[in-house]
Parts: sequence; C-alpha cells; structure tokens
Amino acid sequence: KIDTQCMQETDAAHHLHPFADYRLKKEQTSRIMVRGEGAYLWDSEGNRLLDGMAGLWCTNVGYGRKSIADAVHGQMVQLPFYNTFFHTTHIPAIELAAKLVEISPPQFNHVFFAGSGSEGNDTVVRLVRHYWSKKGNPERQVIISRNNAYHGSTMAGASLGGWQSMHSQGGLPLPGIIHIGQPSYLEGGKGKTQEEFGLEAASWLEQKILDIGAENVAAFIGEPVQGAGGVIVPPVTYWPEIQRICDKYGILLIADEVICGFGRLGYWFGSEYFGIRPDLITFAKGVTSGYVPLGGVLVGDRIVSTLMEKGGEFNHGFTYSGHPIGCVAALENIRILEDEKIVERVHSDTGPYLQKKFEALAAHPLVGNAEAIGFLGGMNLVRQKGATIHDNVPFDAALQIGPTCRAHMIDCGVIMRAVAGDRLVMSPPLTLTHAEIDEMIKLIILGLDKTVEDLRQ
Ligand code: PLP
Repeated sequence: KIDTQCMQETDAAHHLHPFADYRLKKEQTSRIMVRGEGAYLWDSEGNRLLDGMAGLWCTNVGYGRKSIADAVHGQMVQLPFYNTFFHTTHIPAIELAAKLVEISPPQFNHVFFAGSGSEGNDTVVRLVRHYWSKKGNPERQVIISRNNAYHGSTMAGASLGGWQSMHSQGGLPLPGIIHIGQPSYLEGGKGKTQEEFGLEAASWLEQKILDIGAENVAAFIGEPVQGAGGVIVPPVTYWPEIQRICDKYGILLIADEVICGFGRLGYWFGSEYFGIRPDLITFAKGVTSGYVPLGGVLVGDRIVSTLMEKGGEFNHGFTYSGHPIGCVAALENIRILEDEKIVERVHSDTGPYLQKKFEALAAHPLVGNAEAIGFLGGMNLVRQKGATIHDNVPFDAALQIGPTCRAHMIDCGVIMRAVAGDRLVMSPPLTLTHAEIDEMIKLIILGLDKTVEDLRQ
C-alpha cells in the first residue's frame, strides 16, 4: 500500500512541477497516478478515473499495451542507445523513418528526429531559415504564428506560441517571430457566419505579409486545431484560404501536428482533415502514444531537394534524435493503430459518435457551447445563455468556475482539462468504445450537475 500523504509531502518538498505556481508549493497536494489500463487510470488512493485527456493529449492507443513494453524491452537489451549524428544510424531509426513516410502525405519523404514537440519546433525554425539562406533569400527570416497557439516550452517553441504569460517570462518572443489573431469564432465571429469569419481570420495572414513584405517572410506555422489554447476548431473556410495565401507569396506552411497527428482527427495527420499541403509537419506525443519521449519533423520535398542540391551541413541535432527506444515504441504504436483500425474508427465510427454526444452537452444549463472534431472537444461554462453563443454571459473570472468544475469531474471519475475563459477541453484515448464514450459523457454531466449545485449554495 502506498503512503499517499508521505509521497505527497516528498513531492511538495522536492519536485518543481511544470506550469505550477511555486508559492502554493507548501500546501499543494498532488494526485499520484500509479496504474493505467485502456482508457482508465488508478491513483494512489485506488480511485479509478476515465482519462478524458489521454495523459497530456498523447496516449492515443490507451494505457497498458504490453506489446510496446516488450518492443522497448527487446531493444533495451539489444542496443539501448546509439546516436544518429553524421552518417551513423540503427535499424529502429531506419524503419521508423520509412514508416512515417509511408503513412504521411505524398510530399513527405524525409524525417528529422528530435526528442519532443518543442525540439521539433526549434528544428523547424532553424530549418526554414537554413532553407531560405540556401535558396539565396537569407532575408526571409520572419515566421508568422498565432495568438493563443501552443508550440512548446523551449525558447523557440514558446516564441512561436502565442501565450502572453509565456512571453513575459524570459523576454520572448525571439526576434523574427510574430503573431496574428487566432481563428476563434467564439472570440471574433459575432454577427458573421462561420464561413465569413474563417475567410476574415485567414486574411489577417495576408495583411501581415503585406505589412512586413513577402520577401521577409519565411513561413507560417499553425496547429490544424489549436489544442492547449482551448481546442479552437477553425471554420472550414480558414485552412484552404491560408494555403492559398502561402502559395501566392511562396511562403512555407508548417503544420504543428503534435496533438492532431496520429489519428486524433480521424486521419493520420490533421492537415489531411483540412485538405492542406504543409511543407513541414512537427510531430511528437501520439507518435509513441507517450510511452517513450520522441518527436520530430516531417520535411517536405520542396525543402529537402534544395538542401540536397545546394549541400552544406545543417548544424543541428540532439543526442536523442532518433533514440532507438523511442523508435521501437513508435513502430509498435503505429502497428497497433493500423492493425486495430483505430484511425478509421475515429474517422467514421467512434469519432462521429463522440462528436454527437459531446456537442449535445450544449443543452446543459451550464454549457454555453460545445464543439468537437475527431477525438478533440471543448465547451464553455456560462452564467447565462443568450440568443446566440456570442450573447452568452460569462462567469466572473475570479470565481474560477472552470477549475472548480474540473475538480468536480475528477471527483465523479473523469479527467478533463480547464483552460482560460472557463473552457473545458477533452482529448481522450482513441480506443474509446461506444460504451466508454457513453460513460465519459455521463460522468461529465455528473460533474456539471455538481458544479450547478455548488453555485446554488
Ligand atoms: N506543439 C503542440 C501543438 C503541443 O500541443 C505541444 C505540447 O503540448 C508541443 C508542441 C510541445 O511538445 P513537448 O511538450 O513534447 O515539447
């Protein structure tokens, strides 16, 4: 039996958690997870929780996959580490590169490996600038991103990201990284149709390009669906228009698929859902279902052909680029996704089922709007509903209704995530059955009801 209190005290005494307020450190108690199986987690007190967040948007094949553990064990014994610098490599990196190319859109025939999504995005920044230098356009330095985007926590990742809270710590963004508005219909769409607003939000990119001069712009980066920013589902008109603008000005398009990749939107990559053709794709998380850290960048032919033709070293790489343990975990994870037809199921069976059930939550008195796409969803908690979602009346921010509701949901047995603006988001394992989806929705409603009761007191 685990002594939860003793463990929590030790944690509070020594562990500085990511994205945590250290002033609260002394009275903070952390929930300690001890086991996972399928879509469920157990904490040190024996509570069983349905994981509506797939760990941190990543355990796509669910917990407890013995075949991934076996593959990792076998590789640990055979060759636990070797690097991929210069011109050495190993079988797992070779096989994974080929597999990723096989499942990715046709413009991708090469992969650069990293250890995480943040490292993947750092790689992207250096790679696109290297590309434009090699093309003879070194002045093309600027990378345009979006407010409220999340691209990681390294200096370049946090710069690409659009969170003021991250920029203000450490003097970010880095030079040459700028931001435009996000395609949030809730935020900016009042009085417009979704389609109109999608075109308007895309036009901000063209405006920015014209402001700074296309000859200075290297690339545009975006998550197909902004995840950590609150599952911001763009209107259908948005991405095709972004593609048109990038093509018009010859600007590289980077899709950060750290969340949307590996089946989350019912396709191997989220860009396929929106019909766009990125030049680079950042991936991490779902590539191994989070079992082992691994990330990287799919690099399109447009870039690789120039770098091959011009030559010259790309002075960039990580000790753990293409780590053999990460590669075998990814290979087995992808095999599971293929064999169990998980991506297809999210596309045409469990995905539509979950979307319908999740969006029906908008009928709950506390929920102002609820959107889902693939196995991603978000909903806003509101004090009072209006005639349209733009007329809903929010809660006083000081009430912290989102985190309160999230805590009630955990007490009821389901994990969601609370983000700014009283928004709750979900990103469950892609393996959920219809019965598990029903259970998740039931638990979410219980948590919402408890929050309403709370408010009455
Ligand atoms: N990009 C996106 C879209 C993400 O959601 C994340 C992490 O949540 C990252 C990049 C950073 O990935 P990592 O935490 O593996 O560095």
